[in-house]
Amino acid sequence: MPSLTIPKFTFGVGDRFAHQAEAQLRACLQAAEQGADVIPVWNKSHREHTTVGSEPTSVRAAADAAVKALGWKKPYFVDADHIRLETVDGFIESSDFYTIDVADSIGKAAAADAVQAFADRCRDLVGRLEIPGIETPFEITRGDVERIAGKYLRAVQEAGAIYRHIAAAKGEGRFITEVSMDETDSPQTPPELLVILAAIADEKIPIQTIAPKFTGRFNKGVDYVGDLKQFEKEFRQDLAVIAFAIRKFGLPASLKLSVHSGSDKFSIYAPIRRALADFGAGLHIKTAGTTWLEEVIGLAEAGGAGLEAAKDIYAKALEKRDALCAPYAAVIDINPAKLPSAQEVAGWTSAQFVAALDHDQNCKSFNPHLRQLIHVGYKIAAQMGDRYLNLLDECRSTIAKRVTGNLYERHLKPLFVE
Ligand SMILES: [Zn+2]
Repeated sequence: MPSLTIPKFTFGVGDRFAHQAEAQLRACLQAAEQGADVIPVWNKSHREHTTVGSEPTSVRAAADAAVKALGWKKPYFVDADHIRLETVDGFIESSDFYTIDVADSIGKAAAADAVQAFADRCRDLVGRLEIPGIETPFEITRGDVERIAGKYLRAVQEAGAIYRHIAAAKGEGRFITEVSMDETDSPQTPPELLVILAAIADEKIPIQTIAPKFTGRFNKGVDYVGDLKQFEKEFRQDLAVIAFAIRKFGLPASLKLSVHSGSDKFSIYAPIRRALADFGAGLHIKTAGTTWLEEVIGLAEAGGAGLEAAKDIYAKALEKRDALCAPYAAVIDINPAKLPSAQEVAGWTSAQFVAALDHDQNCKSFNPHLRQLIHVGYKIAAQMGDRYLNLLDECRSTIAKRVTGNLYERHLKPLFVE
């Protein structure tokens, strides 16, 4: 059997309550109708499963059912998102894509002799290095290699251990491997990314997607905050380094960047698209909470019990704000003074609630603080149990239309469709 290869353009979607897979797949079908081949990847992390109280098998079941219902004939994947050695086992059966998260080990020292031995094997990276696509050549010293290895080698060794653990259970070539280093403090420079990829090749991890950290803020559910010119420059450098590393280290030819967008980074889509076209590169872009937010918007739009539930979710999220925000502190930016009171929201009409939450930056009523709070507030819906799930069924058509429309019009179209 040939090794599982990741297609050129893949789109990660999150479906926290396992009700929207069909509506999400419909967005990929719409892209296909317009000639854009975008392959869906359903991603859900251990953290999300724990918060919702769901099992990894539920993601596989929902994806399979959607694929069958809509007659999707192309590939699709189920991503064990941000897994580590202690959390991977629950995902062995149901996933065929693993995002190995080693960010916590960045900066932890590897054994000194391992760093030296690795630097010995990287001898030909030392000196003046020209990477096609990057204007200025780099000067890399042995000290640089040792410093970078000192920061990242331990993390890569750990990724290797997790990769081998999965491979022993599933068989080599039967799954896609991603290594993610996005949830860390500072973006990797081109020489850092190059040395990291050298270490990954050295560790014999057949990596097909890599998620570095990019410059700027990727707050949950709202647009990118940062220097777009700098982002585009770094994104292009990353593409150049990856193309170079594939040839230099014999990494899989399918290796591409993975952008963990935290949903809805609309302003970087145009720079990404330009860069991909110039480099002929592929992309994996991972969204997650944007669909959950469309569920809440759809409930509010449906009115009646749906609107009541949306208001209750907000009121409870406001009450539990500190606890809900704590795990996401690094990736949200909420000004409490800009959050309306539960009392005020209780008096809102459908249209007012939708306008505040819907991600339309041109709308004066759009409230990014409220949106971020609800983004991290899915635990409240999980605690509503059947009340929430039954409403998802009752308001199915309103919600599905929003889920598909959001993914297609705001994400797939600007990124992949002419
Ligand atoms: Zn991520």
